[in-house]
Amino acid sequence: MSLFESTNTLFAELLLPVPIPKLFTYRVPQDYNDYIKIGQRAIVPFGERKVVTGVITHLHSNPPKDYEAKYILELLDEERVVSDIQFRFFQWIADYYCCTPGEVLNAALPAGLKLSSESMVQLHPGFDWNESNFEFTQKEEILLKRLAQEPLTYTDISKMLGIKQVHGILKSLTKKEAIIVFEEIKDKYKPKTERRIRLSEAYVNNKQLEGLFELLGNKPKQEEVLLRYLQEVPILQDKTLNKQGISRATLLQTDLSESSLSTLIKNNILEEFEIHISRFDSTTTNEKQEIVLSEEQLQAEQSILTAFEKQSTVLLHGITGSGKTEIYINLVQKALADGSQVLLLLPEIALTTQIVQRLKKVFGGVMGIYHSRFTDNERVEVWKNILNGTFKFVVGVRSSIFLPFENLGLVIIDEEHDSSYKQHEPAPRYHARDSAIYLAQLHHAKVLLGSATPGIETYFQTEQNKYALVRLDKRYAEAQLPTIIISNLQEEQQRKTNKGEFSGLLIRKMEEALAAKEQVIIFQNRRGYSPSISCEDCHWIPKCVNCAVSLTYHQYRHALICHYCGYKESMPDQCPTCTSKRIKTIGYGTEKLEEELNLHFPDSTVQRMDLDTTRSKSSYENIIEQFEKGETNILVGTQMLTKGLDFDNVSLVGIFNADRMLHFPDFRSYERAFQLITQVSGRAGRRKKTGEVIIQTSQAEHPVLNYILNHDYLGFYRAELNERHQHIYPPYSRLIELTVKHIDKKICRQASSELAESIRGTITDIQVLGPGEPMISKIRNQYLMSILVKVARGNQQLAQIKKSIQSEIDRLNKVKEFRAVRFIIDVDPI
Ligand code: ADP
Ligand code: ZN
Ligand code: ZN
Repeated sequence: MSLFESTNTLFAELLLPVPIPKLFTYRVPQDYNDYIKIGQRAIVPFGERKVVTGVITHLHSNPPKDYEAKYILELLDEERVVSDIQFRFFQWIADYYCCTPGEVLNAALPAGLKLSSESMVQLHPGFDWNESNFEFTQKEEILLKRLAQEPLTYTDISKMLGIKQVHGILKSLTKKEAIIVFEEIKDKYKPKTERRIRLSEAYVNNKQLEGLFELLGNKPKQEEVLLRYLQEVPILQDKTLNKQGISRATLLQTDLSESSLSTLIKNNILEEFEIHISRFDSTTTNEKQEIVLSEEQLQAEQSILTAFEKQSTVLLHGITGSGKTEIYINLVQKALADGSQVLLLLPEIALTTQIVQRLKKVFGGVMGIYHSRFTDNERVEVWKNILNGTFKFVVGVRSSIFLPFENLGLVIIDEEHDSSYKQHEPAPRYHARDSAIYLAQLHHAKVLLGSATPGIETYFQTEQNKYALVRLDKRYAEAQLPTIIISNLQEEQQRKTNKGEFSGLLIRKMEEALAAKEQVIIFQNRRGYSPSISCEDCHWIPKCVNCAVSLTYHQYRHALICHYCGYKESMPDQCPTCTSKRIKTIGYGTEKLEEELNLHFPDSTVQRMDLDTTRSKSSYENIIEQFEKGETNILVGTQMLTKGLDFDNVSLVGIFNADRMLHFPDFRSYERAFQLITQVSGRAGRRKKTGEVIIQTSQAEHPVLNYILNHDYLGFYRAELNERHQHIYPPYSRLIELTVKHIDKKICRQASSELAESIRGTITDIQVLGPGEPMISKIRNQYLMSILVKVARGNQQLAQIKKSIQSEIDRLNKVKEFRAVRFIIDVDPI
């Protein structure tokens, strides 16, 4: 910082990952004056004995007025890791979604970039007392001996050594490669390394080598190692090859002696060194896939580019199977060629699949993947690779909007209607699509939203001319949209043509498809065996002890499980109230469906895809791969099935129960049902043969089903918009949902009434509904009440209204009896 004389006393404002809405001032040790920069991370003391990692947002020379600033303990970066644009973006998210910038920072930084007093210190896995070339102080020795037994936290270490500031000693030991610091549970970032071997520089010429072999003449084992080296790394032909050497493992393979290698290294004939290797396969594939767009795709792409000249956001409304991905690929290539960075957002689950493989083939090493199933190390590596310019294109889940982009040119949000873009818990409760649109604005970047079933609010924006609209109404390569057939369960039950909960029609169609060696997908949006069980004699239904919900029966685990808190109890043999043994299951979850399908189709292979079968890292991919290869005939699953899967041979999709989706008590239930059913249906008939979809329902005449049947998005949109207008729901209003939580029901109710009342009393021009009990009124022993605030579209006071709500909450939180009450603000809830 040339701005400041290096003898000046500098102060830094830090953004800390804590839920306190302000910056914190620290004093900069003078050693740091010359290279401290905004955007670097620093470790600072926080509270009594804690340390946290924060990010420097400002530098100045004004000491704080009313307290003595503590010193920064350590700078963690040489270059900045958070940019100005990111700071502005974090602040916007905090303001818009009513949380603190610290909470945003906490969500943004991978744990590996945030050491704290919760950080654990452990011995470096490669550390060996006897081999270390370093000297250790007495304190260091004490610590290392303790660490040899168990990892310790910063706080432990400070207590053990009786010193307040431990960063100095930890820094020194880190330099000596004796320890590493990592976040508990998640491991702290550690570059992945490879041990390599090369010939010492002194021997890299023919003459010296000859002498060497003479020297080793009576040591055949060492000679063998040396010969293998020369064979694998032909330095006699090209001396420069010696520099990169060979990996230790490749050199030794399984047959050469470790100890001979060690001796050669000890005698300075060979040398060992380490390189950092990427966790990601960075090979750019040479089989550059040339994509030839169809006539329609070309036109759509052209329209998008033309629209971008005038507008920054475009909605691509392209039916399922129309080939939106190929258009994305083309646009990404163009943006990259312009030197811009590109972000492609995908819903959570879609990321593990086919689309990513397709993109990887095209973009290879410049493409980074940011996924919630990644380890923290992998996330840190993506972060660093964006900073150092390796990754110019990131495909990621919602949290990838926080990555350190510097010049985004294009943001694509695929399946923009998907509700997994919204974060519910904890704060920031942001919507990644809406936030990405703001982020793009900061970068002067373009945004492409893609969907076959655009969100009502998104489509509305196109009608308001806020977004441009581009349509793609044809499936790629002459494929046709599937034929949708409503199967009336009530009617079948009267005629007794059904088989349990399966309509005769669905069974027959399945038999036909399977006989023709085609595949079938069955969709049921409920996991577990049955949503609940009940005593046939006294109607007892088991409830969760912590939440106001009934327990779901999981047969595989022979247990009753709460889907809200994870509470589990074993399945009773008899009714606990009347001792009857007649306990029946109510309703169908995917597990029961799987069982019944196995009974109905004993010659077919059935696989299930839901949260329970995909917990481990690669199980999801395995299920998809087996289905892709045709090893599975019937795939049954939850909404995981709806996300962008592309199979050749699926001719039939069954929607097991549409009723529940349509009757969910929420103003978005029709929209969601329309989207889910249309998206699952879209998995059928994506190639030559037209597919079929059977929707089982007892409401065959339901208008939403009718729109789905006719592939009539616009009709649906108009009807839905009309409903929303009548009840002033989005897009005609903005919603802010307030949830009040407390362990005591009375206090919870009281606090919520007072909050509603005070908001009604202080804020004008809004509508306040409630307080009322939400659908689930108790979760994890906390009682819940909710209040819904509606702010009319076009109300310019939105920001002020949020602030007023926040200050009413702050006021109530200070009232003695409400101190422990949690108030949660959810802006644009879904
Ligand atoms: P959407 O995401 O719109 O549902 P996809 O992008 O998955 O559709 O495309 C559907 C199928 O058509 C995919 O298998 C894709 O590989 C194929 N496809 C689409 N466009 C092309 C193209 N231009 N060239 C080759 N294959 C294409
Ligand atoms: Zn009973
Ligand atoms: Zn529970």
